[in-house]
Amino acid sequence: MLTKTPKQCWEEFVHFMEDCCTATEFQNWIAPIKVHNDSKEELILEVPNIFVQEYLLENFKKQLENFLPTKTNGELALSFAIAAPKKKTTAPNLIRQAAQPASEKNKALLNPAYTFEHFIEGPSNQFVKSAAFGISMRPGKSYNPLFIHGGVGLGKTHLLHAIGHYVQQQHKRLKVHCITTEQFINDLVDNLRSKSVDKMKRFYRSLDVLLVDDIQFLQSRLNFEEEFCNTFEALINQSKQIVITSDKPPGQLKLSERMIARMEWGLVANVGVPDLETRVAILQHKAELKGIKISHKVAFFIAERIFHNVRQLEGALNRLAAYSRMMGLDVTEEIVENTMSELFQKAPHKRISVDNILKSVAVMFGVRVSDICSKSRAKNVAFPRQVAMYLAKELINDSLMKLAASFGGKTHSTLLHAWKKISRQIGSDEMLRRQIQMARRNLES
Ligand code: ADP
Ligand code: MG
Repeated sequence: MLTKTPKQCWEEFVHFMEDCCTATEFQNWIAPIKVHNDSKEELILEVPNIFVQEYLLENFKKQLENFLPTKTNGELALSFAIAAPKKKTTAPNLIRQAAQPASEKNKALLNPAYTFEHFIEGPSNQFVKSAAFGISMRPGKSYNPLFIHGGVGLGKTHLLHAIGHYVQQQHKRLKVHCITTEQFINDLVDNLRSKSVDKMKRFYRSLDVLLVDDIQFLQSRLNFEEEFCNTFEALINQSKQIVITSDKPPGQLKLSERMIARMEWGLVANVGVPDLETRVAILQHKAELKGIKISHKVAFFIAERIFHNVRQLEGALNRLAAYSRMMGLDVTEEIVENTMSELFQKAPHKRISVDNILKSVAVMFGVRVSDICSKSRAKNVAFPRQVAMYLAKELINDSLMKLAASFGGKTHSTLLHAWKKISRQIGSDEMLRRQIQMARRNLES
């Protein structure tokens, strides 16, 4: 017999989460969830969108399992209902009429290859992918704007276009427009010249989904920034979806405070550098699309050497394919070996291994590598271990689990804890900061 109702269990979970996540996280992800129906058998939660549901299940499954009842098959006795959308404010007539002249030129120009199906997920991009998918399912109804930022060649444009494709397929009546910031500026210049700015304004304000790539190009273009900001506000005020990509987070862009604040209104999500496994998966997926056969070993070999940028990874694959076509050969390890120097000459960094780090740190602190990897908790060993773990996370782009395992089978949470501790300590301990800098220089040289 259950002593608590599912609703009470949920309330306890919420109470618990209030203490263990940050205020923002709680406000964004937990607070919007309501109890929909408190039947004896099952708890039905009402979520504002699928994205909140996914986030809850992906990130707090364990905690949920601790609090909520389970079914006889062991699964959570939990299901979800998506809240009914709020009543839409009707757009003024002017805007309705302006929706007509969508010329060919203004149609969303989307790269057909950039779809969600072809986007490979990994720990570095899972969050941003679910965000993108979430808003594609219900444009304008969840996070607005969605601001995607990250380094070059990591899939920002791919995700932006994936949103465009999905919305065009699933919400046929919605008007989608995808544009680079440069195109926006050029458009504006053209329209200023031909005195047709009003027409352009009407066009933009008639959109349901506006996808803007590379907003960093708006920096130091003051005149254009204002026009962009007005368009932005007009759309957001009508609950029209905006998605923006950028190479930096909003706060680091040299834009007006007004513009930055607007971009931070919704959800800011980062796309990170994919870890080794994800890079291998991406390579294999791309190879398959191009009809090139590469073994797992070959994919691994390439992915181990190109780690910053997915575009470069693809470049390597193309060159390899071209070479093998030219020579009339299959892509074998032998070919990769032969073309290795040419393919990877630009691999940007020296490869750093946990072994190198262990050696450097052991020398620096006058302990043995075997001590660092032992189970000893003595301070003179535990501290160098934490420093080595910190350096491993900073310098090696690999999964935490794998890195931690190289320290005599530690867990990823131990490694993360060490990284956090040392990161904090560096802020206040000048000596440590210098030691770490020295070790880094030594490892990277
Ligand atoms: P960005 O806009 O961030 O500079 P792009 O979106 O243009 O990068 O991506 C560069 C290339 O890498 C594209 O061909 C894209 O398909 C590919 N790519 C990046 N991330 C992924 C991923 N996670 N899965 C599949 N392909 C990816
Ligand atoms: Mg791009």
